[in-house]
Amino acid sequence: MVDRNIKIVLLGNSGVGKTSILWKYNNPSTFDSEDGKTEHEVEPTIGYEYITVQEKIGKNKANVHIWDTTGQDRFRSIASNYYRRCAGAICVYDVTNRESFNAIEDWVDQLRNYCDEDPVLLLIGNKSDKVSETEVATEEGEKLAISLNAAFYETSALFGSNIQCVDKLIQEVLSVMHKKSLITGDCTSTQSRYPGASILSVKTHTTKSKVKGKSKCGCSK
Ligand code: GDP
Repeated sequence: MVDRNIKIVLLGNSGVGKTSILWKYNNPSTFDSEDGKTEHEVEPTIGYEYITVQEKIGKNKANVHIWDTTGQDRFRSIASNYYRRCAGAICVYDVTNRESFNAIEDWVDQLRNYCDEDPVLLLIGNKSDKVSETEVATEEGEKLAISLNAAFYETSALFGSNIQCVDKLIQEVLSVMHKKSLITGDCTSTQSRYPGASILSVKTHTTKSKVKGKSKCGCSK
């Protein structure tokens, strides 16, 4: 049995809905609103340090940790160790807030400056339910995603729509790591979620408030 810790980080301006996306992703029972008609309460003030998604392929175990900024985003800058050794990043803007869209490139620059890997990127335009207040067109998000070499989705953490795109990122990260392990011959790298692989469970590690915390998972933060 080989255990592997994989780190994915959330990025984006304060208030774009990062914590809400993570909360929604971690509470799949609330996903009954693909039609966008059922509104669910989001819990923005309850911050996770990270959540863990367990993947298992054959005898190998991979713990995918998705880290939240725990309030550091308010300062538009996050401690460099937040980025260290991250294999993937979820970059979030608010479709009703152009400033948050304009800030994405800065966030990605910061990520690429501090991350020693070449992280897989997912760009999310959140709050797609606020149609009448939209300031950033879908095409603009798509264009930015292409320039960043990122996948792109518009989501609503409020209604749960498209939140499963986080799963797609996880699969892509695992796939990239598997390919790397084939090239380097590093047998401790996790394998891709090829047929037969599945998410076993989603665990949460909650903190009482959005405060910077010490890593409890064993992966570097
Ligand atoms: P963070 O600072 O990026 O973690 O943002 P939060 O998750 O704390 O959310 C900020 C505010 O936006 C809260 O009031 C949320 O309820 C609200 N919010 C988050 N996601 C959505 C969404 O998809 N739609 C709407 N309408 N509001 C949202």
